[in-house]
Order: sequence, then structure tokens, then C-alpha cells
Amino acid sequence: MTGRRPVLLGEHSWVEVVGLVEQSDLVVLPIGAVEQHGPHLPLLVDAIQVEAIAHEASARSGVPIAPTFTYSSSQGHSQLFPGTMALSPGTTVTALSELCDWLVAAGFRKLFLLNGHVGNGGPIWNAVDIAQARLPREVSLHGMSWWDLTSEVWRLVTSDCPDADWLFHANHGETSLMLHLRPDLVRMDRAVDQDDIAWTFTYDMAKLSRSGAIGRRTTEATAADGERIFEVAVTALVERLGRMAAEEPPESWPKDVRRWRATAAAEYLDEPGRNDPANQPTNGKDLP
Ligand SMILES: [Zn+2]
Repeated sequence: MTGRRPVLLGEHSWVEVVGLVEQSDLVVLPIGAVEQHGPHLPLLVDAIQVEAIAHEASARSGVPIAPTFTYSSSQGHSQLFPGTMALSPGTTVTALSELCDWLVAAGFRKLFLLNGHVGNGGPIWNAVDIAQARLPREVSLHGMSWWDLTSEVWRLVTSDCPDADWLFHANHGETSLMLHLRPDLVRMDRAVDQDDIAWTFTYDMAKLSRSGAIGRRTTEATAADGERIFEVAVTALVERLGRMAAEEPPESWPKDVRRWRATAAAEYLDEPGRNDPANQPTNGKDLP
């Protein structure tokens, strides 16, 4: 941890936000969840983890962090385990894409949706797609999960779920990270190990795990392992934020679109070799 404070949008007044936007056109929106995490971890694991990683990266980089989007797409956990509070994927998509509108209205031009819950992958891709089509072309958007920041983060987080691929939950990685961040909320005496299996279909958590957790070495979780995951993830996020802040978006649209299209089309139609029979489409006629 560093001694510097994170730049948290929610702790500023609107008159201060004016200055924040002038200092950084990049903003991060952390996305958590409220869902069961086995018998040994609290409901807010995903929100606590993504928020801690984002806040520490902000302290090191100065990039502002929007208030965490806490309720999200957790339907895959079923209603068997009490405490989960899910939005449907469609509601999550709508909510996230609308929040993008408001961040752009504030003046930000680069939006990074940083995910902390596996079930949000699809909704976040959709939200980015929808917002991108709707927002001004100079706005840049990206969404990704913190464990996908680098292959090393992924390897550390999913080390005890080799068969289930993307499906890890309240496992060695998540439990270790919680032991580092909030040991007061972890009950290791209740932790259990649960095999991951390479199923070919998608099942909800009620069918996959009696405890609600999936991971072969959850009981071996340590705060030291959690600190390593935290450091690797924060370092990767700071590096990515630096690249995002520096990145010039690809060439923007021309001012006169009709003229650009006419010129470009003429150019391609006149390209050398266009009359060469070898370059003509065959419509399958020449195929054997
Ligand atoms: Zn989780």
C-alpha cells in the first residue's frame, strides 16, 4: 500500500468534479456483486475486492474512481443460497450503459468498466457495445474483469480450479484476497474444498456446489497469497491505466462524411489490378 489517497469521485462536490475532469479524462467504474460466497465469506466479496484494487490503483496513478456499482448480474447463483440479490442481465446492461452516459455528461471521455464478478462478463460487453453506439464518437470505452488484467493474475486467482476454466468461486484465490483485505469477515473454520468439474453445459450454482463455493484448495488460503494477488492485480491495473490515459483514439470520423465516402469509394474502385481476372469475385463459378 502507498501513503497516497485514491481519487474517489463520490467524495467530491460537483464544483470539484469540474477540476477532476480537467486533470483526467479517464475514469474507472468498479462493478461488484451481492451474492453468496460459500459458508466462510460475506456477500460483498466481489465488491470489496474490485473496489480495493481500483482504489489502490487510483492512489498510485491519480485516475479517478466512480462509486462502485454493487448490485449486478448474479442470477447464476440461484435463490437456493439466501443473501444473493441479483439484477437480471438485461437490467444490468441497461443500468451500466446509462451510467456511461452520465460519466460522459460529466466530461469524462475514457470510461473503463472494471469488473469483479464472473457473471457480469456478458452484460458488461453488451453495455459497452450499446454505450459505444450511442455516445459521441470521441468517447472511448472498455470493460474487463480484474483477474483478466494479465495471465499471471488469472493464474494466481484460478490456481485451484484447473478443470472448470472460468468457474471459480470463493476459492483459494478469492479467500486469500479476502484474508489480506478484510480478515475480520473471513471464517476459515467454515471453509470447505469443493472439486471443480469440466461440465459441458452451464449450470447454476445450486447444481454445482452444496457449499456455494468451487475450489480445490480453499482451506489452504492465506493472507500472504492474497497480498501477492493484490499486488500483481494493482500493478497490472496501474500499468493499463497509464496506457489508457496516454492512448490517442484511432482516427476520428471525417467532418464531411458524404464527401469522404465518395472519395474513398472512388479510390478503391480505381485501385490498380481491379480489372485483373485473378482479382475478380468468382461467385463460385470457377470452383471445382
Ligand atoms: Zn466472487
